[in-house]
Amino acid sequence: MDKATFELMQLPYAADALEPVISAATIGFHHGKHLQAYVGNLNTLTYGTPFEGMELVDIVCKSEGGILNNAGQILNHEMYFAQFTSPKADNCPEGKLAEAIERDFGSFDAFKSEFQKAGATLFGSGWVWLSADKAGKLVITQETNAANPVQRGLKPLLTFDVWEHAYYLDYQNRRPDHLAALWQIVDWNVVNQRYDA
Ligand code: MN
Repeated sequence: MDKATFELMQLPYAADALEPVISAATIGFHHGKHLQAYVGNLNTLTYGTPFEGMELVDIVCKSEGGILNNAGQILNHEMYFAQFTSPKADNCPEGKLAEAIERDFGSFDAFKSEFQKAGATLFGSGWVWLSADKAGKLVITQETNAANPVQRGLKPLLTFDVWEHAYYLDYQNRRPDHLAALWQIVDWNVVNQRYDA
């Protein structure tokens, strides 16, 4: 192949910046191996096809099979890695998004609990998402494998990856503990920007 259309995203932080919530070792494998593999696969699969160079979100809405799976995983991981920052105690959303969470879930704590439960009960590999629907109402969805809420016409805002590769080195089988810890590293500025966009 002489042309690589899709490239591995650069992380907006150092590999150890999310410790102890996510270790540098997990970031190394998750970003450097798993995401890199999806990028390589998509380049191979789309070479010489109409999907070459297309926006990921368009590919996810128009393709199927291996192209859909790899494009979906790249889109999901780009949103996932971009939404984190170094751990903060009492980390919580502010402004319009905070108000919408309170309006649609009752409280931030109630939202966190519902989101974690959706992540913990998703059977097999997938992603739990917070999205906004066309009317601006916030919804939590479970998406299996490489699916993304844009496929349902939703605007995705925040996601936790529940594939085992996201947590197994640090938490082994304790997926709920991993999900509960992730709130410390959510960069709510990024999530707010997605909500406003
Ligand atoms: Mn992953």
